[in-house]
Amino acid sequence: MAGSFRSGYHAGLRLAHIKIHRKVIGEMIAHALEEDPLECCGVLLGSETEARRLERIRNVSEDRERRYSMDPLEQAAAEQRADAAGEGITAIYHSHTYTQAYPSKTDVRNAVNSMWTGPFYVLVSLVEKTRPVVRAFRISDSGEVTEAVITTDGRAYRS
Ligand SMILES: [Zn+2]
Repeated sequence: MAGSFRSGYHAGLRLAHIKIHRKVIGEMIAHALEEDPLECCGVLLGSETEARRLERIRNVSEDRERRYSMDPLEQAAAEQRADAAGEGITAIYHSHTYTQAYPSKTDVRNAVNSMWTGPFYVLVSLVEKTRPVVRAFRISDSGEVTEAVITTDGRAYRS
């Protein structure tokens, strides 16, 4: 079912791959740089393993330099549009402006508590402003973090 990649990921079955179109990677980095030093967030839409487009979602956290919290109405609207288009949420992305592109303890806890363990988690780090780093992960229902391989149009993505 489109839009229903929400849960059901079990860690350790296989090395996960996510394809993110180059244009989408560019849009994600642009979003992160625009919001810097605040964290940006949003969703990547497409199939279960291929992100074809991006929707920005407002970060409504009270501490946006360190946290993100997706506006629930915007998130629901994005899910509805994805459903209508026969798509699903491939990934949830956000930026880290002071830390590495790795899910924080809070990120992991939020993923587990929200039961959004189906999509990938994509992190953009701006620790080096001139060289943003993009990495993707799966977060299991039990909070286990596994890095996924990012591929893009044609060749492997290396950040
Ligand atoms: Zn984070």
